Amino acid sequence: MTLRMGIDSGSTATKGALVDSSGNIVARHSQPTGVDVAATAEETRSALLSMADAQDSPIPTIATGYGRARIRFADRRVTEITCHAAGVHHQHPEVRTILDIGGQDAKAIRLEEDGSVADFAMNDRCAAGTGSFLDALARRLDWDLDAPPEAPPSASAVPDISQTCVVFAESEVIGLLAEGHTRQEVIAAVHRSIASRMTILVGQLLLAEPICFTGGVARIDGLRLALEEVLGCSVRVADDPQFTGALGAALLASPPST
Ligand code: ADP
Repeated sequence: MTLRMGIDSGSTATKGALVDSSGNIVARHSQPTGVDVAATAEETRSALLSMADAQDSPIPTIATGYGRARIRFADRRVTEITCHAAGVHHQHPEVRTILDIGGQDAKAIRLEEDGSVADFAMNDRCAAGTGSFLDALARRLDWDLDAPPEAPPSASAVPDISQTCVVFAESEVIGLLAEGHTRQEVIAAVHRSIASRMTILVGQLLLAEPICFTGGVARIDGLRLALEEVLGCSVRVADDPQFTGALGAALLASPPST
């Protein structure tokens, strides 16, 4: 079996995927990136190789993500924008816009019909609207991101979070709970706040449908619904959205020449 590997060294998590010659994922692995980006990438690679029982085979590999420059075992390094485009186009070739929210940045990427990148806009300067904003407020709200979603509150009960700076937004969340808002109402306010920040990025592109949501944060269905509300159109989630970048990287790795 001819395998190709993608390693996405993210600010929060390192994700790896191995694909077969048809582009199907045969192994995937993720772990916190931690402080030693290169060592974590090596561990991710070893985990993938042992899952596929392929320890002795040379496997073409592309690295992407925030820490890609540190991944020496990769044959090439490719931007996350290109890798997300490749991953989404493989799964859903009709998609024309990708919304990607990871640990430390958010991106809107518009695709051509052939899956190439037509344009993109990115926020990597400020935590607002990213996974780190979500993580800080989730800690304040005792909100387990892995827990199944609870029933959403009525839209009219959802307060606004006006602060975009995470430190001030944390104080605002504490204030909203003290005023008597339920935890679910404040969680819905956090969804809306992150979705509203995404409209700023989307406003810098020509938004084209269908739209696909990727990145670790895309696992939160309430956030997908909030994006649909603020954008006024339907938003689908990529299959296994935290692995889209790793999948795209693996797909872009060249098969060994014969
Ligand atoms: P990066 O590539 O920057 O490391 P990811 O795309 O891996 O980012 O996404 C990381 C973010 O995903 C975290 O900051 C967190 O907000 C979110 N996240 C982590 N676990 C979950 C989960 N179980 N459900 C929803 N979101 C999650």
